[in-house]
Amino acid sequence: MNDKPNLKLGLVFSFIIFSIMFVSSVLTAILAIFFHPNFSSEANKFLWPIIDLSIISIIVGTTISAIIGKKILAPLVKFSEAIMEVGKGNFNIKLDEDKYYYVEELKKMSQNFNIMVDELNNIETFRSDFIANVSHEFKTPLASIEGYTTLLQDNNLSKEEKSKYTDKILNNTKRLSSLVGSILQISRLENQDIIAERSRFKLDEQLRQTLLLLESKWSNKNIDLDIDLDSITFHGNEELLMQVWINILSNAIKFTPEDGTIRCTLKKDKNWITTSISDNGIGMNEDTQKHIFDKFYQGDKSHSSEGNGLGLALVKRIIDLCGGKIEVYSECKKGSTFVIKLPC
Ligand code: ADP
Repeated sequence: MNDKPNLKLGLVFSFIIFSIMFVSSVLTAILAIFFHPNFSSEANKFLWPIIDLSIISIIVGTTISAIIGKKILAPLVKFSEAIMEVGKGNFNIKLDEDKYYYVEELKKMSQNFNIMVDELNNIETFRSDFIANVSHEFKTPLASIEGYTTLLQDNNLSKEEKSKYTDKILNNTKRLSSLVGSILQISRLENQDIIAERSRFKLDEQLRQTLLLLESKWSNKNIDLDIDLDSITFHGNEELLMQVWINILSNAIKFTPEDGTIRCTLKKDKNWITTSISDNGIGMNEDTQKHIFDKFYQGDKSHSSEGNGLGLALVKRIIDLCGGKIEVYSECKKGSTFVIKLPC
């Protein structure tokens, strides 16, 4: 346990000034006594005025320094109070940066403190938004499962009704399982800085395979495919890159109406391998384009379309880990183009 006395900063500061003045007064007196040639004869003439002056200057000096010291130390006291508030979880506290503009270090300290509090506030908002989003995404399928399971308890249901309800339960279970999978995958990718398990594979083949995998989806909507893929070998994580194409192509199919067209090209130049995936679907306004890579963001706020808003956040993380870039060009009701550049 720390049993040292807790002294106030202002008091310590005044005591230091008092000590300095006291020591210098005593030294002045000693020097005057020993080095003045006629000191012994004029002792009374010299000694008492020196002592008087010393006492007065010590009192005046200490009082002035106590008053000024309080002012100088005020920002430190404020700073300490603000830190205590942050410790209690209040991230809305701010220091007045302009108040201490005359002392460079204090101004910098206030600015840095405010930046730190802003960052903490952002993290806190992000954390609570994340929890709210996850809870919301879980709530809807869980409520459906609960509802349809209750309906299934009725013994008088027809065979068709039973099958319809079990289908609904199955779909919502798949939705939950895909949500959990995406959350786990995104948190795993956020905790890694490099891509492990790299191998050489044909990118054009992988894109064709993805389109084949999604065939039921695009052929159901009678979507026309326009494909122009150069033969290109890439060195990277095959599974993660497959996820990128699945997510972007699934979105292109989802947001393109019947009889639409999806164009997919693959080219290579000196530095980059460029994949472009375009659709002539619903497109996006500028606000949506700004947020598509945010976790849980869905352009359709009613969340009526399939998905959980994690697809493009995952894509962005994978492309970042590959050292690549992703750009989006879109216009409402005209369509969207995603351009993915991977380093050669
Ligand atoms: P999800 O598809 O599950 O909603 P994503 O992260 O994949 O989530 O996409 C986020 C949002 O980006 C979508 O909700 C949609 O508004 C928009 N978006 C993505 N791709 C397209 C596209 N090809 N056309 C129009 N909007 C798109």
